[in-house]
Amino acid sequence: MTQDTSSLYTPAGRVLALCGGVGGARLARGLNALIPTPGQLTVAVNTGDDFEHLGLTICPDLDSVLYGLSGKNDEQRGWGRADETWHCLEALKELGAADWFSLGDRDLAVHIERSHQLREGETLSGITARFCERLGIAAHVLPMSDDPVRTTVHTDEGELAFQEYFVRRASRPKVQNISYRGADTARPNEALLQCLADGSLEAVVICPSNPQLSIDPILALPGMRQALRDVDAPVIVVSPLIGGRAVKGPAAKIMAELELSVDSAGIAQVYLDFLDGLVIDAQDADDADRVPVPVLATPTLMRRQEDSTRLAAQTLAFAHALRQGPQRINGTTGR
Ligand code: GDP
Ligand code: CA
Repeated sequence: MTQDTSSLYTPAGRVLALCGGVGGARLARGLNALIPTPGQLTVAVNTGDDFEHLGLTICPDLDSVLYGLSGKNDEQRGWGRADETWHCLEALKELGAADWFSLGDRDLAVHIERSHQLREGETLSGITARFCERLGIAAHVLPMSDDPVRTTVHTDEGELAFQEYFVRRASRPKVQNISYRGADTARPNEALLQCLADGSLEAVVICPSNPQLSIDPILALPGMRQALRDVDAPVIVVSPLIGGRAVKGPAAKIMAELELSVDSAGIAQVYLDFLDGLVIDAQDADDADRVPVPVLATPTLMRRQEDSTRLAAQTLAFAHALRQGPQRINGTTGR
């Protein structure tokens, strides 16, 4: 089952990944497999989706990353944990409790323990680091901030808290604007800032997460965009679109509603002030001419761990090549 990684590019320096939930975690698990040295990989995760539910603090994107990196994710369902059961949710329903957010029994254990430790005065960073240790994850997984940030979606049906929009209303209302409550005063995670300032940083990878819902909350933290403009290492974005569509979720719908072009050029536009290279799917190779930075076109669908590891290696090799200067990369013109 284990992939032969001997022919894949492996980085010598540190790597920073910015990540949302399921889509981002698919690439993060590839980076994690490629970079087994503890602390060499830092994964900074969106917490704009976090919310309180049934008295528990739930951090959906952090959990997706923890499950993906520890191999505990359910590949078939595409979210949550493998070998999951739903007894608690059924019993909650019986009692008339809110049942619109799917909580599996194993998943609940994480929410219960995290909520408990938060009440004991632990920080979200500290708790996440301990969970990583317990789950055998070598990468340094960080919440983007220990201060609360809450994504709010302004729609044609009014203002909706993120989970109201995303889960309860199944992303149906038309998006007019998105804001990140608390982001302007939240302090970016200290370890994230340190990583960006580290001279041994080799690449920053923005995972194929939803640009507006998963990556923008991270970029909205004070100083983050500037830090990405200033960082010496190349910043590479992996597009979440394949064939001009989202693999899953509302990314394409939201881009269209915000009047962005729903293609590689639209993805590049969102990140243009700091973007050094864009990885797009081979199906979208024709978009490359309209993208103002070097492009790598390659299959980006990550069904299995092997797909994730291969794409992670290609992305880092692309970053490495960009560091060596403008040139032709895998047949795609670097400009
Ligand atoms: P969420 O927080 O769980 O909604 O997940 P993310 O924001 O991290 O990721 C959602 C995005 O991942 C969607 O826009 C999908 O198009 C994208 N995505 C999911 N799986 C894949 C994949 O295998 N390849 C690529 N390129 N994108 C993917
Ligand atoms: Ca999310």
